Parts: sequence; C-alpha cells; structure tokens
Amino acid sequence: MLFTLCSYIEAWSYGKLFNEKRMGDWIMNWFRRMMAGRYGMDQLGYGLLVGCMLCILLRGICKESAAAFLSILAVVFLGFCYYRIFSHNIPRRQLENQRFLQWWYPIAQWFSGRKGAFAEMQNYKHMKCPHCGQKIRIPRGRGKVSVTCPSCHESFIKKV
Ligand SMILES: [Zn+2]
Repeated sequence: MLFTLCSYIEAWSYGKLFNEKRMGDWIMNWFRRMMAGRYGMDQLGYGLLVGCMLCILLRGICKESAAAFLSILAVVFLGFCYYRIFSHNIPRRQLENQRFLQWWYPIAQWFSGRKGAFAEMQNYKHMKCPHCGQKIRIPRGRGKVSVTCPSCHESFIKKV
C-alpha cells in the first residue's frame, strides 16, 4: 500500500515536473510564434522606457496638475513602446528609430563633450601667456615648471 502510494506520488511529481517543462516549452513556442514578424526592441524603445521612468520620477516632485500630465505622458511613452515592439510595420518602425537617433546623437555628443571638458579641467591648468595673451594649457601636478609660450617663445615660471 505504502509502496503504491510512494510510486504514485513519484509518478505524480515526475508528471508535474514534466508538465511544467512542457508548459515552459509551450509558452516559449507561443512567444516565438507571437513575436514572429513583429518589430521588437530598438534604441527608440529603450528611449521611450527611460522617458516613461523619468516621468514617473519627476511626478513625485511636481504639483498636482503637472503630476497628472506626467502620468499621462508616462502611459503614452509606455504604450508607444509596446505598440512598437508588437508592430508588424517594420520599415516604419525603423524610420522612427532613425529619426530618433538623428535627434538623440547631437545630445549624446554634447554630454560626452561636457564630460571630456571636465576631465580636461582636472588634468590641465588653462592660462594665458603674460606676454602675448596666447591661451596655454599645462598638465597639472608637476610643481613649478618653466613654460615657453608656443606663440611668442617667451619663458616664464608657473606653479601647476
Ligand atoms: Zn606668449
């Protein structure tokens, strides 16, 4: 009796596990079939997700009317993101992404430029030649150095 029960439980748990695996396969297949011919994710998609999250974050520090507007905007961003993922119109989605990148790249460039300028400020001392006013940059952290101006070739001592 006990043996029968044990093997029954074993068979049942095995069957359950087996079914879970089959269920997983079935879900994966269903997902693959559903996504076939659909556009999926791209840079604009990630941009929309980030936009949605920013709206939600900003909503916390805004007044009521602005918060309501941001809520709607967050839903619109997320809705458009999902709409694009499941869209069948691939050329149109690619065009949207291209337009987004054309708009986004100058901004990204500007930000990386800022970052570079900040690093440069930390690594170089910027100054003007006391003789001719030529702009010069000297690497920082070398103590007193003798600087020769590249423009007028006058030398002067500077602490950097
Ligand atoms: Zn000079």
